Amino acid sequence: MTTTEKTADLLAREIEARREDLIALTQDLIRIPTLNPPGENYLLICEYLENRLKRQGFSVEMIRAHGTPGDSDRYPRWNMVARYEGKYPGECVHFNSHTDVVEVGKGWTFDPFGAELHDGKIYGRGACDMKGGLAASIIAAEAFIAACPDFAGSIEISGTADEESGGFGGVAYLAEKGFFTPQRVQHVIIPEPLQKDRICLGHRGVWWAEIETHGEIAHGSMPFLGDCAVRHMGAVVNEMEETLFPALAEKRTDMPVVPVGARQSTMNINSIHGGQAEQPADFTGLPSPCVPDSCKMIVDRRFLIEEDINDVQREITDVLDKVAGKRENFRYDIREMHRVLPTMTEKNAPVVETVSRAISDVMGKEAEYVVSPGTYDQKHIDRIGKLKNCIAYGPGILELAHKPDEYIGVDDMIESARVMAQSLAELLPRPD
Ligand SMILES: [Zn+2]
Repeated sequence: MTTTEKTADLLAREIEARREDLIALTQDLIRIPTLNPPGENYLLICEYLENRLKRQGFSVEMIRAHGTPGDSDRYPRWNMVARYEGKYPGECVHFNSHTDVVEVGKGWTFDPFGAELHDGKIYGRGACDMKGGLAASIIAAEAFIAACPDFAGSIEISGTADEESGGFGGVAYLAEKGFFTPQRVQHVIIPEPLQKDRICLGHRGVWWAEIETHGEIAHGSMPFLGDCAVRHMGAVVNEMEETLFPALAEKRTDMPVVPVGARQSTMNINSIHGGQAEQPADFTGLPSPCVPDSCKMIVDRRFLIEEDINDVQREITDVLDKVAGKRENFRYDIREMHRVLPTMTEKNAPVVETVSRAISDVMGKEAEYVVSPGTYDQKHIDRIGKLKNCIAYGPGILELAHKPDEYIGVDDMIESARVMAQSLAELLPRPD
């Protein structure tokens, strides 16, 4: 056996010895309902992680993201960063997991916060997205420290808030405070549920905008005395159907986005609201007859690394200007709500090559490279932290995220923990 094989063998045994611990840790995390919105129990889960990691010799910082969206004394945005220093100086590998989960929704046959173990799977909201990944990374780090106590460099584990709502009170805040500078951290692994044999290199871009068409209020029996903003918006939808959607479908990308349907530009019309507001369900009256003077549409445009954000914006304003050229009294406003540029880590980046080797070692098959259709916290590490050596890698099936009866497979966590631990062994070797 070579030294590398011996280390891999030792790590596998250290992780297997922690199987029960891994299950209990995952269950404990799921049983803390960290619903977002509104952002429940963030302090509780950070304290739980702090206790556990301090016992293992980590030093822990608790950081509240004061003043970020949603932060209040009732719902404080707490984050936890733990660091373990090796015996010798070296690089730092950071595992970042979000601690928040989305609403439960309907259709569950298991208790969403019961974390029941059934047939090798642990069920609960956040099981795969991403408390299972967080637990796997903790077990991987602890097993590595036990197996290779003389390593060089350092390991960080963070539990962060609000990924599901943009990450502004979580990774973005930490990045602004310098936690992800290339001087402090050299490799970042985000254990999102991308499947144990896949490496996620990045994500497409996002541009959200609100379009408003204007009209003039009048009595509904004499609409010719007013100007209907909803009809103007109808013309916008028409133009989009005729020219914009076909053009977007033509734009293909070399990014390996999964599912393959997202390997092109896409746009979702998120909402259209015009005219009188909807009344509560128990309201029994009729609407009053008015011509709507305003109609608003929110568009959610996802774009490719080959596209420029200025062109993405221009395409939408071109549609509006074209409609303006055809319709009398057509007036509009457009307002940007949110933007994230696409990002993709190079395949030859050190963290990608290392995790790829560990996957083929542990799983006996080549790693698959993928890109996410939607964004995740890598955007903040890339843009604010200026760190390009970042991937998402973790156990769980992406399609189960946010669904009823979400689960994480225990064997999947064990295997991905082995990949993470072997990656630590390669990135933080003991000096000869
Ligand atoms: Zn997630």
